[in-house]
Amino acid sequence: MSCGNHHDVDCGEVLKRVYSFIDNELGSASVDEIRQHLDECGPCLEQFDLERSLKKLVHRSCTGEHAPEGLRERILLRITQIHVEMRTQD
Ligand SMILES: [Zn+2]
Ligand SMILES: [Zn+2]
Repeated sequence: MSCGNHHDVDCGEVLKRVYSFIDNELGSASVDEIRQHLDECGPCLEQFDLERSLKKLVHRSCTGEHAPEGLRERILLRITQIHVEMRTQD
C-alpha cells in the first residue's frame, strides 16, 4: 500500500503503527519515522487525523476505558478502506 511517492517507511507500515503512535507507545526512533512520513505523505496524514478524531470519539463514549477490540478492528478496517478508495480515485 502506498500513495505513489517513495518513503523510507511505507504507508502500510505507518498505518499499522499509527495507533501506537497516537497512544505514545512507540520508541523515539519510530516516532521520528512516523512524523517524517506524515510530513511528506498527505494520505497518511489525513488518516492519522481521522484516526485521532475517532479515538477521541471512542474515548468520549466510554470514559477512561479502552475501546472494545471489535470496534477497534472495525475502525481500522474502515480506515484501510478509505485509504484504498483514495488511491483508486487518482
Ligand atoms: Zn503514507
Ligand atoms: Zn505517501
